[in-house]
Amino acid sequence: MLSDVSKISPNGLLADSPKMTGFKIQRLELPKTDPTWRFALAANPASPGFLLQLFGENGVTGSASVGEIQHLGYKLGDMRDALERAIPKVVSDKDSSAVESLVGPSRALIQMALLDLVARSRQVAAHNLLGELKRDGVRVTRILALKSPEEMADVAMSLVNEGYRDLKIKLDNKDEDLDFERVAAIRSAVGPEVNLTVDSNQSYSAEGALSISNRIAQFNIEVFEQPVPQNDIKGMRFLRERSPIPIEADEAANSVERVEELIREQAVHGVSIKIPKLGGIDKAAQVAQMCSDAGVQVRIGAHVGSRLLSAAALQLAVVIGDLVEPAELAEFERLEGDPVTGLVIDGGRVKLPGGTGFGVSVSEKLEA
Ligand SMILES: [Mg+2]
Repeated sequence: MLSDVSKISPNGLLADSPKMTGFKIQRLELPKTDPTWRFALAANPASPGFLLQLFGENGVTGSASVGEIQHLGYKLGDMRDALERAIPKVVSDKDSSAVESLVGPSRALIQMALLDLVARSRQVAAHNLLGELKRDGVRVTRILALKSPEEMADVAMSLVNEGYRDLKIKLDNKDEDLDFERVAAIRSAVGPEVNLTVDSNQSYSAEGALSISNRIAQFNIEVFEQPVPQNDIKGMRFLRERSPIPIEADEAANSVERVEELIREQAVHGVSIKIPKLGGIDKAAQVAQMCSDAGVQVRIGAHVGSRLLSAAALQLAVVIGDLVEPAELAEFERLEGDPVTGLVIDGGRVKLPGGTGFGVSVSEKLEA
C-alpha cells in the first residue's frame, strides 16, 4: 500500500519544505548516441528538456528533470513559458496553486524537485515518503528503435551481451510483414531466455493489431503496448478480449481520469506508468494504486532523459507492491552529456542508490 498521496502533492510538500531562497532552471539537450533512433511517432537526434533546482535556506537543493513529450502535445517552448510563470510563485510564496495550474511534465518537474528537496532536508531517500520499501532495485528493459530486422537483431544482441535480459521492440505498421520480421529476427538472435515486449505507438487499427498479435504470439511476447490510437478505447477493449498477447495502455493512460476510464471500460490488461505524462509522482502513485486495486498490471514505462528522471521513477518503483518488472528505466544509457551521476545499470538491473532524495548527484558546474 502506498502512502497518502496528499502528503506528496505540491501542497503537502510545500507545507513540509524549507523556505526557498532561489531556483535555477536550465535547458538540457542530451544528444542520442544513435542519432537515427526513431519510433512510430517521432525521430529526433537529441532528447530536449529541463533541469530544475530549488535552493532551500537550509543549504539543501532539490533537483528534478523532465523532457518534452511532443507526441502528447507537451512542447518545450510552451513548457518554458508555463514554468517561468509558475516557479517564482512557488519559490517566493509557496503557492501550490501555481503548480496545480500546470499539467503533464511541467507539473511533474516542480512536484519532483519539491519531493527531492523535502526528502533531502529530512535526510532520507525519497521512497521513505512514498510507502514501504518492497525491493532494492528493478530489472530494466532497453528499447529497440525502428530499423531493419537485421539491424534491430544486431542491436538486441549487443544489449544482451551487455547483460540485459529484457528488450522492447518498436513497431510502426508501415508494413505488417516487416513488423513480423523484426520480431522474428530479434527472437531468433537472442534465444528463448530474453523477455520481449512490443510497442507500436498507436500505429495499428484494432483489426490489424489482432492480426499481428496472432502472428507474433509464437515468439512469446509479454506485452503489446499501445497498439491503437490513444482515444480508441473500444479498440483496446476489442483487443483485450481477443489478443493472445496482453494489451497495455501508454499514450491512452495519460491522466488519472483517463486511467479511471480504461479501468471502468475494462479496456486493457496493464498500464504503463510514467511520471511526466501523468503530471508528477503523486499522480503516478495514485494511478499505480488504482490499477493494483482493479487487478490491472502496473509497469513503469520509459523515462527518457537525464538519470535524474529515471532516479525519481526508481524511488516510486521500489514501493509498488505488485509492480510488474522490468521497468523502462535505462534509456539514459543511450544519451550523452548527462550532468547527473549515481545511477548505475549492472547485469540488466538498476540498483536503488543509497543517498538522500533521489540519491543521485548533479554536476558541480550546474550547482551555482
Ligand atoms: Mg510506449
